[in-house]
Amino acid sequence: MAALAIINSPVSIPPTDRLYLPYEGNFVTSKAGCKVLSISRPEQQQQQGDDATGTLIDLAFDASPFHPQGGGQPSDVGTISIERTEQILTVKKATFSFETNVVTHHCSVVAADVDIRVGDTCTLNVDSETRLLHSKYHSAGHLVDSAMYRLGYELPPEKGYHFPDGPTVEYKGLVEADKRQELVKKLKEEFVTLVNEDIPTTICMQIKEEAEAELNRTQKNFDFSLFEDPEVRIVGVADFKCPCGGTHVRSTKELSEFTVTGIKCKKGVTKIKYDIMPSTSV
Ligand SMILES: [Zn+2]
Repeated sequence: MAALAIINSPVSIPPTDRLYLPYEGNFVTSKAGCKVLSISRPEQQQQQGDDATGTLIDLAFDASPFHPQGGGQPSDVGTISIERTEQILTVKKATFSFETNVVTHHCSVVAADVDIRVGDTCTLNVDSETRLLHSKYHSAGHLVDSAMYRLGYELPPEKGYHFPDGPTVEYKGLVEADKRQELVKKLKEEFVTLVNEDIPTTICMQIKEEAEAELNRTQKNFDFSLFEDPEVRIVGVADFKCPCGGTHVRSTKELSEFTVTGIKCKKGVTKIKYDIMPSTSV
């Protein structure tokens, strides 16, 4: 059937149940029975028509294990299997709207006769290798935070970039020029220590005010005025807690391939670079 002609995105749909948010959800990469709530086509493609890469459609479900791009972490990729027809779609990217709290799955459709309808149930499969790699890059960024804290650098965290093409964590404030290379050396050592300590990751929802009191006990490192909900997801990696929406590994011991690789101080911001060591692979 010309299923892709039925495109009608419902005006509003309920928020997506994001399955990766609870602790165990970090390791869930497949979920059957996810119900299609909306189907739409990217506006750009509606104007340009389908091309050789295949038709693109955007799907939203009642629940999803896909981590959407955000918080410095790349999007999951994977597949969607329509349970009624057993047809497969490829998920190229997932995005999240803070306005609607809906995760949109941007999919490519190779078969011209794909039949998908609102109300269909699908099995959502996240590429588990890519997820694990993203979780490692993200968690290693947290480990740098912890190492900085242990070394006495309580600089307020700015953004993190946890993509494999040049991951960094940023802090407000500068490290004195003559202490920078020494800091990199110490961070490398602290990184190894934290990995060897095999510290378990913790994830919990905390009342905003309680989380703010606990996390900012020593210094006002985090700005909780940015959070609107009464509860905030607090992630602890290597004994260092912070508000976070990403996916993580179970323990610091899984980050043994990583190390700190450099420092850059510019315009009031300190950037610590980290990456997988060249001699190892994830
Ligand atoms: Zn995180």
